[in-house]
Amino acid sequence: MSDPKPKPKRPRGIANLLEGKCIACGARCQSSCPVNCIEMTENGEPVIEKAKCIGCQKCVKICPAAALEMFFTAEEQQILAELAASAAPVEDEVDHEAAALAKKLAAYRGVWVFIEQTEGEPAKVSWELLGVGAGLAKSLGVELSALVIGENVEHLCHEAFAHGAEKAYLLDAPVYFHYRTEAYVEACCHLIETYKPEVILMGATGMGRDLAGAIATRVGTGLTADCTGLAIDDKRNLMQTRPAFGGNIMATIMCDKYRPQMSTVRPNVMPMPERREGAVGEIVRDSFTVEEESVLTKVIEIIRDSHSTGAVDITGADYIVSGGRGMMGPENFAMLQELADELGGVVGASRSAVDAGWMAGDRQVGQTGKTVRPKIYIACGISGAIQHLVGMQDSDMVIAINRDSSAPIFEVATYGIVGDLFQVVPAITEKIREMKQKNHSSKN
Ligand SMILES: Cc1cc2nc3c(=O)[nH]c(=O)nc-3n(C[C@H](O)[C@H](O)[C@H](O)COP(=O)(O)OP(=O)(O)OC[C@H]3O[C@@H](n4cnc5c(N)ncnc54)[C@H](O)[C@@H]3O)c2cc1C
Ligand code: SF4
Ligand code: SF4
Repeated sequence: MSDPKPKPKRPRGIANLLEGKCIACGARCQSSCPVNCIEMTENGEPVIEKAKCIGCQKCVKICPAAALEMFFTAEEQQILAELAASAAPVEDEVDHEAAALAKKLAAYRGVWVFIEQTEGEPAKVSWELLGVGAGLAKSLGVELSALVIGENVEHLCHEAFAHGAEKAYLLDAPVYFHYRTEAYVEACCHLIETYKPEVILMGATGMGRDLAGAIATRVGTGLTADCTGLAIDDKRNLMQTRPAFGGNIMATIMCDKYRPQMSTVRPNVMPMPERREGAVGEIVRDSFTVEEESVLTKVIEIIRDSHSTGAVDITGADYIVSGGRGMMGPENFAMLQELADELGGVVGASRSAVDAGWMAGDRQVGQTGKTVRPKIYIACGISGAIQHLVGMQDSDMVIAINRDSSAPIFEVATYGIVGDLFQVVPAITEKIREMKQKNHSSKN
């Protein structure tokens, strides 16, 4: 009896660049190659070292311009044709690397939201993140959990349940009373290593930015800061969207080889979820603690912004009247203050107005300023550059006043007034005063 015919192996081919098709997207092909056989030319096009290529097709799949294809020799093409024609079972080579990666990623499950607190008082952004986290957890079919660290902070676990969390990991000890990077990094890394979440969301606040970066470095994963959109793709990867190149494009960033996937989101970017009064969940108490002596930073006193004179938190305001370069000078902002006072709101500004020294930096709305989500945002003499829009376009109502009818601000405006702000703003203020007066008189 003759030996059975060996099963044919499917040829893998080698990657080949199609002339004139590369759009120099930024070397995605190069970063995807597991064997570093792609070099980039000065024009940003790949040169493939064919002798090293293992035919994994990663570069072909990642190329946004379909500029790469797999090349097969005539002999290989014949084998492929024979395989296609015959019903013979094909022995595909096992991709050990892909299998190991899939196994590593599968060990991580669940969406976590870090609950930021100062002296037991939670930061509102944490609840906003539970809102977006709930959607991600649903897409992934996993639990949404809160990560609560502090001293005497169990009440925050219950508050997290009311905002959508199903579980809370709680580390409650005196050493965590004040936020200190060393202690919180140790604590978070311990929880991550023990419970292995696949997604962690944190507020892009001073604390969140500091903590997230330190954790990502320690656990060896990626971090996308200041995300404006979060979603899950069909391979369980977190699609993290944020403005890039000065806000001129929106980039979607993935961390497909490492876990957990970490993102920060600024306050007011995500909507507040509905409160579920009395909702319950499971509290996982962990006793991990850090020796006080090992923490070099000592907090002597916390001085809150609101205690300092003149500081205004525009992020929490329901009504914002913002001025731009069209205000022509700092003295004219008094007119906006009058309108803001009538509405019970605050005055904001574009970066141009801040750069000109007309308003303080903490009033700046936009990409490098604050993100706001008021009930009404009145933009006066602001053109509506993309960097400004990303900071206010989610306001419930936008009223734009601009004398240029083609100003981009009108594209996001609920109501647009084409006219001279020096006439329109005082007229609105006057009208509101009249209405208030009428209301007051009719009540008496
Ligand atoms: C990396 C980067 C980050 C940035 N971050 C921010 C940011 O966080 N926030 C931000 O705001 N910008 C930011 N910018 C700047 C942004 O690109 C714009 O330059 C800026 O927003 C323009 O400000 P403005 O609308 O006040 O001024 P302009 O663009 O000069 O617009 C002035 C407007 O006023 C109107 N106007 C003039 N006089 C009157 C009048 N009498 N009545 C009515 N309308 C009038 C004009 O028609 C014009 O539309 C950033 C830029 C970069 C590159
Ligand atoms: S096919 Fe795989 S090994 Fe070959 S160049 Fe592309 S990424 Fe590198
Ligand atoms: S991924 Fe495609 S478009 Fe991007 S550099 Fe490589 S070949 Fe060019």
